[in-house]
Amino acid sequence: MRVELLPSSIPASDSQFLVTFLVNDEVAVDAGSLGLLCDIRRQRRVKHVCITHEHLDHIASLGIFLENVYEPGPESVELLASREVLDFLHDDMFNGRVWPDFFALSAPDNSFVIPTAIEPLQPFKRAGLTITPVPVSHGVDTTGLIVDDGTVTVAFPSDTGPTTLLWQRLAEIDRLKAVFLEVSFPNSRRDLATLTGHHCTETFAAEIRKLPKDVRWIVVHRKPRYAAEIADEIAALGLASVEVVRPGEVYEF
Ligand SMILES: [Zn+2]
Ligand SMILES: [Zn+2]
Repeated sequence: MRVELLPSSIPASDSQFLVTFLVNDEVAVDAGSLGLLCDIRRQRRVKHVCITHEHLDHIASLGIFLENVYEPGPESVELLASREVLDFLHDDMFNGRVWPDFFALSAPDNSFVIPTAIEPLQPFKRAGLTITPVPVSHGVDTTGLIVDDGTVTVAFPSDTGPTTLLWQRLAEIDRLKAVFLEVSFPNSRRDLATLTGHHCTETFAAEIRKLPKDVRWIVVHRKPRYAAEIADEIAALGLASVEVVRPGEVYEF
């Protein structure tokens, strides 16, 4: 399985302002930076976009992306999210004001987007991947995703603070190779992390002990103003299994 966290700064850097993971170039997890990929052919290869929750850093370029890849005809991008998130996107983004109502404009013979509601713990298969949505613990209802290609499994918890169900599910998976887990705040802002349903470095360290497995823990979602402080704290943990993500790098599992 190939996974890339798309860069979201201009020019590309390690600063992460937005969230999009590409899996095998065909499935996107979130659409923060998806519509900013300068190679439009790479955007066109993405046929399924999973949205974990409605926060702006996860949906910022969704409308731009759909506009970029639209071609007249029945073929279209599939948008997979909980029913609530699909409704938010329709009401608050594709509402004919912020952006055209691609939901209403879509017809079977000419489609801008194909919305598909996903259900917690109900796996679905797309592009050779089996994807299982698992609720996590963020300020709003948020869906983590467990992605399996038949050989390896990788987890994308999305934005979350301390949680339980995801680790229970992952404990049962022998071929789990990596978890892209967030650390949004440094320890000095633990109060804010707790308040907003995110991790600081200490809660991250406690969290990974819930899953005593030989996996790569790849730290994502550092808020840019705290990125260096968090990186220092992560390094001070001295854990060989923990690394900080490099946007634009293709991870192969
Ligand atoms: Zn969020
Ligand atoms: Zn976020």
